[in-house]
Amino acid sequence: MNLPFRSVAVLGAGLMGRLLAVSLAQAGCRVDLYEAGSADAEGAAARVAAAMLAPLAESAVAPVSVVRMGQHALSRWPELLASLAQPVFFQREGTLVLWHRQDAAEASRLARVLAATGTQVPELAPMQAIDAAAIAALEPSLGQRFAQGLFLPGEGQLDNRALLASLLATLQAHPNVSLHWQSPRAPADFSPGTTGQPDWVIDCRGLGAKPQWQALRGVRGEVIRVHAPEVTLKRPTRLVHPRYPLYIAPKPDNLFVIGATEIESDDMSPASVRSTLELLSAAYAVHSGFAEARIVEIATQCRPTLPDNLPSIRQPQPRVLQINGLYRHGFMIAPALLDATMELLAHGHATLARSFGMETSDNA
Ligand SMILES: Cc1cc2nc3c(=O)[nH]c(=O)nc-3n(C[C@H](O)[C@H](O)[C@H](O)COP(=O)(O)OP(=O)(O)OC[C@H]3O[C@@H](n4cnc5c(N)ncnc54)[C@H](O)[C@@H]3O)c2cc1C
Repeated sequence: MNLPFRSVAVLGAGLMGRLLAVSLAQAGCRVDLYEAGSADAEGAAARVAAAMLAPLAESAVAPVSVVRMGQHALSRWPELLASLAQPVFFQREGTLVLWHRQDAAEASRLARVLAATGTQVPELAPMQAIDAAAIAALEPSLGQRFAQGLFLPGEGQLDNRALLASLLATLQAHPNVSLHWQSPRAPADFSPGTTGQPDWVIDCRGLGAKPQWQALRGVRGEVIRVHAPEVTLKRPTRLVHPRYPLYIAPKPDNLFVIGATEIESDDMSPASVRSTLELLSAAYAVHSGFAEARIVEIATQCRPTLPDNLPSIRQPQPRVLQINGLYRHGFMIAPALLDATMELLAHGHATLARSFGMETSDNA
């Protein structure tokens, strides 16, 4: 891709900032990446996330525009990962949705919502209603426990921490990139387009952008990582729950991410006892092998969220772009936002962004 400029400052080395920095550098641009924290991404929502790529499952809480971005990302992730310095676990084994008898009414409501999404977005692989035998065929260790479920073929997940590490290694190896850790910045610290300054500033600071984007809010999520060699789940499993969708996402090396609460608060304090009990009981109810699992980490982070819970690419002033509001779908939609941003920067039009239903202006 030919870019009509030479240098960019990217603010924030979480998910969106690292992805954009890599794509801009690979397109021949000189990139300075500024991050408030360290290379470990300890302040990023991206580090805590489960990184499920589940557009149909998420349509229970997301509009069709986000579903379309998610569908775009499922085919884009393998291409993006292939250009990175280190391999990253990525799978498309589908999503299994299960429920206990007491949640059957909620499960019926969910099935209706997902069926309606399937009608609106026909390119999604159709959802399948499955019985105990079909559950056992997919996940042999679960067949006896659940009489019914839904299977969403083609949905995916990746290893978020391996992705952050691989993006970092790619940036470190690239001659066009300078990395600045412990370096908090705001767009006002730059005068893009003037002598000695970057041609563009791209703000990917997640919740760190709140001082300049007041509408941003945090949505707290608590997540538990366990090491469970006795559990043999092959794909993300969701449990219908009256308050928030619970999931168990199997990662490499017998690690499982169990999450996530969803609380309207930007409180980053440690996980509550109630949330921890709920998450671990839910996991144990799905698979008794979790009884002997070892708790590796209990983490809290806040999802950067705008009032409509939708992502946004905005241009508050010439030569400054802000990308934010990735909410609970960052990994699921980041490739769509990346492609839309690169189109805006390279060609000055927002055709792709509009095809995803995003409001954004041309002539960036
Ligand atoms: C519990 C939980 C579970 C999730 N599960 C999923 C999931 O299964 N699937 C999915 O698709 N998404 C999931 N997400 C959402 C996803 O993690 C976020 O949408 C995504 O990380 C947002 O990306 P971002 O780059 O905008 O922000 P972040 O990843 O938060 O990165 C922002 C970066 O900016 C830095 N920064 C802040 N201020 C400054 C400053 N002044 N100067 C420089 N740098 C600064 C921060 O330190 C941070 O590194 C989950 C999120 C949470 C919290």
